[in-house]
Amino acid sequence: MKAFDYERAADAQAAVALVAGHPDAAFLGGGTNLVDHMKLGIVSPEMLVDVTRLPFGAVEERDDGGVRIGAAVRNSDLAAEPLIRQRYPALSEALVAGASGQLRNLATTGGNLLQRTRCVYFQDRTTRCNKREPGSGCSAIGGHSREMAIFGVSEHCIATHPSDMAVAMAALGAVVQVLGPDGSRSIPIDELHRLPGDVPERDTTLAHGELITAIDLPPVAGHSAYRKVRDRASYAFALVSAAAVLDVAGGDVADVRIALGGVAHKPWRAATAEARLRGGRGRARGGRAD
Ligand SMILES: Cc1cc2nc3c(=O)[nH]c(=O)nc-3n(C[C@H](O)[C@H](O)[C@H](O)COP(=O)(O)OP(=O)(O)OC[C@H]3O[C@@H](n4cnc5c(N)ncnc54)[C@H](O)[C@@H]3O)c2cc1C
Ligand code: SF4
Repeated sequence: MKAFDYERAADAQAAVALVAGHPDAAFLGGGTNLVDHMKLGIVSPEMLVDVTRLPFGAVEERDDGGVRIGAAVRNSDLAAEPLIRQRYPALSEALVAGASGQLRNLATTGGNLLQRTRCVYFQDRTTRCNKREPGSGCSAIGGHSREMAIFGVSEHCIATHPSDMAVAMAALGAVVQVLGPDGSRSIPIDELHRLPGDVPERDTTLAHGELITAIDLPPVAGHSAYRKVRDRASYAFALVSAAAVLDVAGGDVADVRIALGGVAHKPWRAATAEARLRGGRGRARGGRAD
């Protein structure tokens, strides 16, 4: 691992200025993904700016009935938070389905959203990978591709996004709050992660130096749940997962939102299935849907 500078910014503006002002600087959350990649030699930032002590460590109820989650909230704390467990069970279930207890104790909400693909070739510097080394080729196409994407792929990359949490947030309609050198902006979560296209090295629509400060969840009517299929009962990434939010009124499906994980470069909204279900009967034959 190469030597690097470690900084703790006094506030969010200072953190943004430090990273934006240095092309090889990166924000450091819990480090459970970034530091692994530094050890593997996949990335070698010259400066890490620790953002875990910025004042983004709370989960707060908002006036509109929604919730604001600070970017530094640890995954374990978020999963256990009563507001989340009661109103957004899909999010709590998705968090608990990810990684291990020790990792969740360190991992932050901001870092979880921006974790990188688990494609085995991306993590192996001896292989060709357009995401790690643009223009080098994609070893997964024609290679080991069991965990790869089935939607939204390109000829340059077929990797999936690994976060369970992000899938639940996509179904819940989260909005990501960001502070950058030019000020703050709000990004609907569907627009945060991008498909690989011709630029597979770019995972998101964030610019260098943009800091995630919080994630807002709108008030949600109805029930939500998260289900994950994986090779082992714990400590394994999703082969496929689904988060669903279902609002049934008077026996009819008033609203439904479905997001799939493990199938694309980003949490994948099942828009056609949503449209087919919306307005239909809320009680499936032989089982409860409400
Ligand atoms: C063995 C193992 C198993 C795992 N299993 C799962 C699993 O089943 N499901 C799952 O979802 N995850 C799993 N994970 C991944 C884990 O959830 C992530 O490593 C973790 O959530 C990343 O959060 P972090 O705070 O440690 O991020 P870091 O490693 O600190 O950062 C990750 C990225 O986010 C950037 N970043 C961090 N904070 C901010 C911010 N506030 N604003 C802008 N950029 C920021 C960093 O610069 C870096 O690029 C697993 C990890 C391991 C090691
Ligand atoms: S699928 Fe993407 S991340 Fe995996 S080897 Fe191909 S280019 Fe790299």
